Amino acid sequence: MKDSPHLQNFPQLNAFHAKPGFISLIGHRGARGLMPENTIEGFEYILDNDIIAIEFDVLLTKDEIPVITHDFYLSKAITRNSEGNWLSKDGPRISNLTSSQLEVFDVGGVDKSSSYGRLYPEQAFLSDVRIPKLTDLLDLACLPKGENLFLLLEIKSEPSFKKSTIIENIVFEIEKRSLSNRTVLHSFDWELLEECNRLAPNMPRSYLSQLPKSSDDLYDKPSEEISPDFSSFNGSIPEAIEAASGHLWCPYFKDVTADLVAEAHSLGLPVCTWTVNEVEDFENMIDLGVDGIITDYTDRAKNIFKSRGLRWQ
Ligand code: MG
Repeated sequence: MKDSPHLQNFPQLNAFHAKPGFISLIGHRGARGLMPENTIEGFEYILDNDIIAIEFDVLLTKDEIPVITHDFYLSKAITRNSEGNWLSKDGPRISNLTSSQLEVFDVGGVDKSSSYGRLYPEQAFLSDVRIPKLTDLLDLACLPKGENLFLLLEIKSEPSFKKSTIIENIVFEIEKRSLSNRTVLHSFDWELLEECNRLAPNMPRSYLSQLPKSSDDLYDKPSEEISPDFSSFNGSIPEAIEAASGHLWCPYFKDVTADLVAEAHSLGLPVCTWTVNEVEDFENMIDLGVDGIITDYTDRAKNIFKSRGLRWQ
């Protein structure tokens, strides 16, 4: 791979670049296959298992507090009410609840009778687990045990807020703790990433993509994501990211080809792919030369990396 022109300015990008004998291992929503997604308990699991990078999702509450959760609404498949019962339907939207209203809900497990829950039979089932505020995770990253943690922070583009409002609330908390040198801002919304470039130029930006042909995949259906029209890029997503001064490309794994990885690398752009969970898919992605793998099953990833003589960072 061509040396990235950005590594000197953004040392955190080292955590997302492959090096000879090393690949990047990134826990998806913590480690969704093993622990409740997007929870402090899941992030603690990552730290306890010597993994240094996590991907997670951030949305704003009605009172503009950044919280860590994936869907724009409370999902009945992972949310119990204050009586401990599963929600009877999805909702309300996170943007319609204050952070204190959110605190009554328990997200310590999946309803294993739901179609979503059946995807994660190995996930631990805990109780009294709250949707974390972003600050809970940032504070963890400031503790000695979290000092090596790198954050791939996905900003969800909630249309009821201005993009600048979302970004400013998130960036404020990162800057307050001097964590910008361990954070990469990550989004499907490429316009929002442009705004990040303007408002937070001291943090690198990661561009998510999923081609329309693979967008119905149940395993990782994005929720109401705003994606660019890739047909307007003359067929080259890496070139489009380069043109946008992006620093990292995170394609859906079924969209990755050896040619695309080579093209990204020729531009100095590392490639971290999501969400890779099955043995043959790990093997394929390693063969295609990706820099990093975002997975729900960090334990499986480690076993495969070991079998391939790879270490992870
Ligand atoms: Mg995400």
